[in-house]
Amino acid sequence: MTEMSRPTDAPRPLATTVIGSWPVPEWLARLKTEWFRGRISHAQMQDVHETAIKAALRDQELAGIDIVSDGELRRDNDVDYLLSRMPGVEIAQTAKDFYFDYYEPRVTAPLGDADGPLGLADDYAFTAAQTDRPITVSLTGPFSLAHRIRDEAYGDRRALVLAVARRLNAEAAELAARGATRLQLDEPFLAGYPDQVGVAVEAINLVTADVDVSWGLHVCYGNRYARPSWEGHYDFLFPAVLEARVDHLVLEFARKGFDDLPALARYGWDRSVGVGVIDVKSPRVETPDLVAARIRHALRYVPAERLVLNPDCGLRHLSGAVARAKLAALVAGAAQVRESLVETSAPPPPEPSPTPSEPAPALAQGAAT
Ligand SMILES: [Zn+2]
Repeated sequence: MTEMSRPTDAPRPLATTVIGSWPVPEWLARLKTEWFRGRISHAQMQDVHETAIKAALRDQELAGIDIVSDGELRRDNDVDYLLSRMPGVEIAQTAKDFYFDYYEPRVTAPLGDADGPLGLADDYAFTAAQTDRPITVSLTGPFSLAHRIRDEAYGDRRALVLAVARRLNAEAAELAARGATRLQLDEPFLAGYPDQVGVAVEAINLVTADVDVSWGLHVCYGNRYARPSWEGHYDFLFPAVLEARVDHLVLEFARKGFDDLPALARYGWDRSVGVGVIDVKSPRVETPDLVAARIRHALRYVPAERLVLNPDCGLRHLSGAVARAKLAALVAGAAQVRESLVETSAPPPPEPSPTPSEPAPALAQGAAT
């Protein structure tokens, strides 16, 4: 359906990135709940969020992550931040007591297509002012957002999913106009409804239509309180996902194992793949050797120029210390494999680097080869 395929928009082969969310420390969780209960002002909360985002960006930079995110630290969870800003979605503000709980939103009339921005472009502008690294902005996808809405307007799930998609398309266009170059749709609920992948892909194509950025699609098996919501196999995505107008498929493998990876080649997925090589549901920190072994395994099915490396999902439920250590292992494992690729592929061997174990610190260095 699409010839798009930007083989890699990543700064270098085996680039490292994150899925989106960053650990929410206890103090931030408390402050979010205080704000939700009206005990601290919006301006104070804004200041807290900005400070936390700066720290999360710095942690990612120090770990050597190539493509960073704001950690989704402004968002209570993967759904409410977007739905609560979407005109036409009704939410009883007293519906929850703890910030991480889900609202119980509903729609009682059809949604407008472009009722004003949701504010993600402002969030992006703040993040872009804090770092020189490429940034991915994630948006929870239309299938998953619609899944959390009680429909009293459409009487037809597909119609609601597509309406949410049109709204996200307007927001994506706003993000692109403000300079965002990498957007990612997260569909954490899709794996629970494998028979509805066709509707999800139809909606994804509405979101990405005419928004000229690098688009990722992250499908995982859920990460609510660090537990998977679903079990199953990624082959449910195929062949439908081949019709999705996205550039990257971003999947979890570290926890599930790599059994599903051959399906991508078997079904002819020739675009880039974000492969989860860090298990976010276990606090045990991987060694760089284990990460490197996982990368080498993935390289049997996806060539280095189409392979991006990431944790399985967001880091939200890990402690900051564990998340930092896991990202350091990710970067070190990627560097290990990148160096061995250089050794085996470059005809004249380069001068040995004085510090061969150091990952290249800067972005946009081009290929490490
Ligand atoms: Zn995920």
